[in-house]
Amino acid sequence: MSRAETPFTCNACGSSDVQIFYRVQGVPAHSCLMLSSREEALAFPRGDIELGFCRRCGFIGNVRFDAALNRYSAAYEETQAFSPRFLRLLDEVWDDQIERFGLGPGMTALEIGCGKGEFLVGLCERSGCSGIGLDPGYRPERTHSGAAGRLTFIRDLYGPKYAHLQADYVCCRHTLEHISPVFDFVRLVRATIGERRHVNIYFELPDMERVLQQGAFWDIYYEHCSYFTRGSLARLFRAAGFDVRRLYKVYDDQYLMVEAEPAAAPGPLLPQEDDLESTTALIERFGRQVEDRLSTLADTIARHHAAGQRLAIWGSGSKCVSLISSLGLTRTLGPEHLAIVDINPHKHGRFLAGSGLEIVGPDALGRFRPDVVLIMNSIYTEEIRHELAGRGLEPRLIPL
Ligand SMILES: [Zn+2]
Repeated sequence: MSRAETPFTCNACGSSDVQIFYRVQGVPAHSCLMLSSREEALAFPRGDIELGFCRRCGFIGNVRFDAALNRYSAAYEETQAFSPRFLRLLDEVWDDQIERFGLGPGMTALEIGCGKGEFLVGLCERSGCSGIGLDPGYRPERTHSGAAGRLTFIRDLYGPKYAHLQADYVCCRHTLEHISPVFDFVRLVRATIGERRHVNIYFELPDMERVLQQGAFWDIYYEHCSYFTRGSLARLFRAAGFDVRRLYKVYDDQYLMVEAEPAAAPGPLLPQEDDLESTTALIERFGRQVEDRLSTLADTIARHHAAGQRLAIWGSGSKCVSLISSLGLTRTLGPEHLAIVDINPHKHGRFLAGSGLEIVGPDALGRFRPDVVLIMNSIYTEEIRHELAGRGLEPRLIPL
């Protein structure tokens, strides 16, 4: 379909100049829901991905996204807090945010999409502030904190009915990418703040520039319907009535952070917002990049399999579900040749949506004895090497 015929509108700026540049059909609608049987995992609802790039604001969204397939609940298992490397990142973010925004006793932090609450709990424990967290996937039994008396959790999605919740600091981590009407959402956050211009805003989400640069197709999945680069994120916040104060990347440039505050008048643009031209160039070559990545990975796996070797994939989250479905791994590898490993004990014995593969803990690798371990996020390579060595294993590691 040519650009002129596309009927899609950008959810960030309303433009109809949206170019479709990437398609995947029939992918599991969720990848972090814990399914208790293989049958349930195999029968899990599927949806299509068609990424549209807005040539006016740079926003990228799945134009085929259907929110009716969403099943966010307490069975959603997204936490990365079992990884020491991830906990170090949280430490850095807590210290940085508390210092920058002077969070302390008497102040209130509101977290939209707080997951299991780790970030908010840590923020309140360290700073002495009070906290309100919203998330349908929150699990009260997992919060053990001396700050519990200052914490309120609401097991629901954020929406207009929570406009009365007032705070000095509003954060939203790894949530915006799950929301399709992004302008409406950020605008709602802005509207609830009203005239209280001292309120600081902090959003954290995956950075799409890196995904485009690296052809990292496993970072594109159904749960993520919205994708941003620094420029498109800043443009969205500005359009919704915020001034963008800080725009940066962390975690080997995997995560994109924005700090904003309600604007009385438009503030000066930051140099890193100027990325529309470079993003357009990345979009043009993304399809070929992905094909190269896919064929290299498929060749590597086929070669090891032909040699009778066993493969383990370390990390059972969305990236893993996306990789298995893109490579069609379960068509070629049986359970005796493929293991899915995760350090989160809440995932062990559960099944991956789409493929129906069972997730095991690192201890199970002692019996499976993998020859090759595919690491779904290279930032954990040393941590994983250490876990394997502790079990007397020295397989070949392939970090993605
Ligand atoms: Zn747009």
